[in-house]
Amino acid sequence: MSTSFNQELQDRLVRYAAIDSQSDENSPTAPSTEIQFDMLNLLRDELNAIGAQDVELTDYGVVLATIPGTVKGPTIGFLAHVDTAPQFNAEGVKPRVIKGYNGGDITFPDDPELTLSPSEHPYLATKQGHDLITASGTTLLGADDKAGVSIIMTMARHLLENPDIKRGPIRIGFTPDEEIGRGVGTELPKDLAVDFAYTLDGSEVGEIIYESFSADRAVVTVKGVSIHPGWAKEKMVNAAHLAAKIVQTLPQATLTPETTEGRDGFLHVTDLNGGSSEMEIKLILRDFERDGLEAKGELLRKVCDAVQASEPRAEIHCEITPQYRNMRYWLEDDMTPVDLAIEACQAHGIETVADPIRGGTDGSRLTEMGVPTPNIFCGMQCIHGPLEWISVQDMATAADVCLTLATLAAEKQAK
Ligand SMILES: [Zn+2]
Repeated sequence: MSTSFNQELQDRLVRYAAIDSQSDENSPTAPSTEIQFDMLNLLRDELNAIGAQDVELTDYGVVLATIPGTVKGPTIGFLAHVDTAPQFNAEGVKPRVIKGYNGGDITFPDDPELTLSPSEHPYLATKQGHDLITASGTTLLGADDKAGVSIIMTMARHLLENPDIKRGPIRIGFTPDEEIGRGVGTELPKDLAVDFAYTLDGSEVGEIIYESFSADRAVVTVKGVSIHPGWAKEKMVNAAHLAAKIVQTLPQATLTPETTEGRDGFLHVTDLNGGSSEMEIKLILRDFERDGLEAKGELLRKVCDAVQASEPRAEIHCEITPQYRNMRYWLEDDMTPVDLAIEACQAHGIETVADPIRGGTDGSRLTEMGVPTPNIFCGMQCIHGPLEWISVQDMATAADVCLTLATLAAEKQAK
C-alpha cells in the first residue's frame, strides 16, 4: 500500500513546508500569527475540493472536517498542527528532496558548514534508499508538524475515493499554535465531537506516545527598593541581585533540563527580565508524576522564601500556574485508543515504542479535557533546527498504520 502514497506525501510536504506559518508566543492574538491562516485557509479549501464534509474554519482558528463512515464504528479524530516552532528561522523554507538516500553525509546548499551525518544520527543510518526531505540550511523544515498534516490529508483523500474501505466516521482537526502551547481551546473537544483522537506529531516509526510531562509554569516577581544610586546607602534594595540569588540557589547540578533525562523532571529558568527596581523570573516545572511536580513547586517556593527572609524590605512573589498533565492519568482508565494504535502497527510488522515524551502535545490538554488523544509517529527528526529531516517512506508507513487503525476500530465495534 505504501508505495502508492509516497509521491503524494512528498508533494504535499514540499508544498506545505514552503508556506511560512510560524507561531509567536509573544503575540496575544489567537491564532498568534496571521500567517497561520495561509495554511488554515488552504487546508479548508483542499478539504472541500476532495469532498470532505462539514468543512469549517472555526473562529478560534481550527480547521475541522468529517470523512463519513462506511460502517458503524467509533468516531475517531486525527489531528495535526499547522504552526512551526518559533525557536528557529522559518521564513523562506526551501524544501529539498533527496531521492534514494545513499547513506552518506548530507550537506546543505545555503550553509556549507552544516552537515547531517548518519554517524551522529543513528536513525538516519537506517534510512538508506529512502527519499528524504530537508530544508536548505538556513531554516527549519517544518515537518513538525506539516508531516502530520500531509499524512492526514493523504489519508482523507484516499478514504473519500475508496468508500469500500471499512471505517467509522473520521474527524479531522488542523490546529494552530501547538508550539506555544495554545493549540487546544476550550471549545475544541465539543466541536471535534469524537470518541477518541490521535495527534500525528511524533518521530520514529513505531512510536506511540501516551505519556507526557505534567507541566506548570512559574513567575517570580522581585520588587526591590528603588532610589538614586548617589543617595542609596542603606536604603536601596537591588532586585537584580535578589533575582540572581534566587536563580543561584536553585539546583544546577541536578533537576535542570541539561542534567536530566528519562523519567526525571526539572525546574528550568527560561527568562530573567527587569532591572534594579523590579525583576521577573520565568520558569517551567516538569515531572511525569503529580507528586514530583508538586515537590518542584515547593522547592521553588522555599528558595523564594529563603531569599525573602534575607531581605525583608524586598517583595518576592511566586506564582505557579498549571499548564498540562500527563495524559497517562486518563488513558490508563481506558487503553482502547493506545491498544488500537499498537495493534495497527503490529498488523504492519512494526515494533512499537512507548517512551514517555519529555514535553507536551495537544493531546495532553485534549486528554485532560475528556478526549483521549495519544500521539502517533510520523517520521520527523531533528525538529526545530536547520538539520530537520524526514523520510517519505516513514510518512507512508504512518498513513498505512492510521488507515489500518480506522478499519480495526470499526471491526471491533461490529463484534
Ligand atoms: Zn509538533
